[in-house]
Amino acid sequence: MKVLICDATAQKALDMITEAGIEVVNKPDITAEELLVEIHEYDAMVVRSRTQVRKPVIDAATKLKAIVRGGVGLDNIDVKYAGSKGIQVLNTPTASTSAVAELAIGYIFALARHIPQMTSSMGDGEWAKKSFSGTEIAGKTLGLIGIGRIGQATGQKANALGMTSIAYDPYAKESASIELVASLDNLLSRADYISLHVPFTEETRNILNAEAFAKMKDGVYVINCGRGGTIDEDALFDALKSGKVAGAALDVYTEEPSMGHKLYTLPQVIGSPHIGAGTVEAKVRVGTEVAKNVIHALKG
Ligand code: NAD
Repeated sequence: MKVLICDATAQKALDMITEAGIEVVNKPDITAEELLVEIHEYDAMVVRSRTQVRKPVIDAATKLKAIVRGGVGLDNIDVKYAGSKGIQVLNTPTASTSAVAELAIGYIFALARHIPQMTSSMGDGEWAKKSFSGTEIAGKTLGLIGIGRIGQATGQKANALGMTSIAYDPYAKESASIELVASLDNLLSRADYISLHVPFTEETRNILNAEAFAKMKDGVYVINCGRGGTIDEDALFDALKSGKVAGAALDVYTEEPSMGHKLYTLPQVIGSPHIGAGTVEAKVRVGTEVAKNVIHALKG
């Protein structure tokens, strides 16, 4: 039995799979063209967010029994079509929860105290004590859009820091520590910080659009460590320019990879290249779960 590793995966995972008697072929930079030609040789494939597993790949994968996604989102995989061909699609839903929640919390502090901008100013040889008046997060309201694993973890951490977390999620059950609000408008009108933790769906596409920004408090901060496409980036640009939104922190973008994005021409925007799950600990957890999924799918 053979598994193709299509995206960078922890060595520990590769070792665990090999020890289980499954041959590992590690091609973390495989191109879409190479994948189409080679996939017929494999019983399982491991991907993260880079590799696209659409109909042509699935059609070519005549032996494939499992597609294992290291991470949460399955938007790069045609899950229904794979299912129709009897191919299991497995992910590692809990492995990156802490990492992403911690990044969101880090961004709340960074926005409140302008930490990246101050660092950059120091690097420019300045001593701009008067330019960077911060605010405190204690006593502020965090509005979570989506209160699944990561939204919940982010809200609990924020509450422990003295914030009050509220959440909009029409599919969530009650939460012990976080008030669920009945409408998005309610959240938009109350939150000092808004953090997105929803998947990208037809319903969440541009859930923060110009209309939504208009309903927010003046000087609100917006954070997106969830999925690209959930913020109308042109509308965010305008809301930042007008001062309606005081600052934004972004880990995900409508188009990825995103180089030279116009939002980064604004000094109030800070961010990262989709590395929410990029901690040493999460990579090990993802790797371990990936390996277990591969072994379970191929060996039972
Ligand atoms: P989850 O499935 O546990 O939670 C998602 C929540 O969104 C669910 O509670 C769901 O009910 C809610 N939701 C769906 N549609 C909604 C809508 N229209 N309005 C409000 N809420 C809605 O997922 P999770 O593990 O908490 O992950 C959340 C997001 O974070 C996912 O999109 C995932 O892809 C993303 N993520 C990003 C990174 C990163 O590197 N930045 C890493 C891991 C996960």
